[in-house]
Amino acid sequence: MADKEDLDAIVAQVAAEMRPHLGEGKVADYIPALARVDPRQFGIAVVTSDGAVASAGDAETPFSVQSVSKVFTLTLAINRLDEALWTRVGREPSGSRFNSIVQLEQEKGVPRNPFINAGALVVTDAVLAGARPAEAIADIAGFMRRLALDETVAIDAEVAASEQDTGFRNASLANFLRAFDNLNSPVEEVLEVYFNQCALSMNCRQLARAGLFLAHGGLDPLNRIQVTSPERTRRINAIMMTCGHYDASGEFAYRVGLPGKSGVGGGILAIAPRRAAIAVWSPGLCEAGNSLVGALALRRFVALTGWSVF
Ligand code: GLN
Repeated sequence: MADKEDLDAIVAQVAAEMRPHLGEGKVADYIPALARVDPRQFGIAVVTSDGAVASAGDAETPFSVQSVSKVFTLTLAINRLDEALWTRVGREPSGSRFNSIVQLEQEKGVPRNPFINAGALVVTDAVLAGARPAEAIADIAGFMRRLALDETVAIDAEVAASEQDTGFRNASLANFLRAFDNLNSPVEEVLEVYFNQCALSMNCRQLARAGLFLAHGGLDPLNRIQVTSPERTRRINAIMMTCGHYDASGEFAYRVGLPGKSGVGGGILAIAPRRAAIAVWSPGLCEAGNSLVGALALRRFVALTGWSVF
């Protein structure tokens, strides 16, 4: 395993190598708060088992975590429902865009996996069960703060409101799920929680810190909290590897070889089992909706550390 000095040098090298690429890709423009983000930003943070942090670039700049939040709500939902969750959502790569609706009709309201939007809405419904939206939102935000060891993690109210104003596709998916009897709470309530979880604002250091339990069989080595079981942790990592980058998941596994989850804010959380959690951020996206420079940086990071799982 690379020691701290090596890691500092490696993340500095990765950040330097990304400089000529800054601005590549297309920033998400479906809401103003994301559209106005300067695409020429890049951050990387690596948090190892002993809590050491190696970071470079804009690792302290908060960004909209968007779909990276789906890893954490999946953890909460699996803890709550265990095997029963898998009667409501599958665990196969979708081969479609993250917000595709066609597949949902064909598959009779059982989304392919928990990371496409339809699947994430089912997961959010499981987290919401028996609570009010405000309580579920507070639970999710509290979970993130605890894992990040940082009380300042917050939800960006502007992003949450714009997601709501423009979320016609997500509303369609939610209504479809409800028509197939695969949402228990009212559609508006599920959407409210989902839009707020997407609007969590975190920086690379906080996000890597929050994901550390996924590298350690579900035990957060710094908090000493068993967040979820070793078996569930293996499964969450497997789904990250196969589905975490939507229709580019195969390419990410091929190029990077780590379980990872992307978001349209340009963040990616990647897990190096038994070693570290790594968060990268750069707002420009590829065709499939994943950070272009972020994925490139992870590719270089893995080449320099040899930390691929393969
Ligand atoms: N808020 C976005 C949506 O629901 C999240 C998508 C993503 O990050 N891939 O469409």
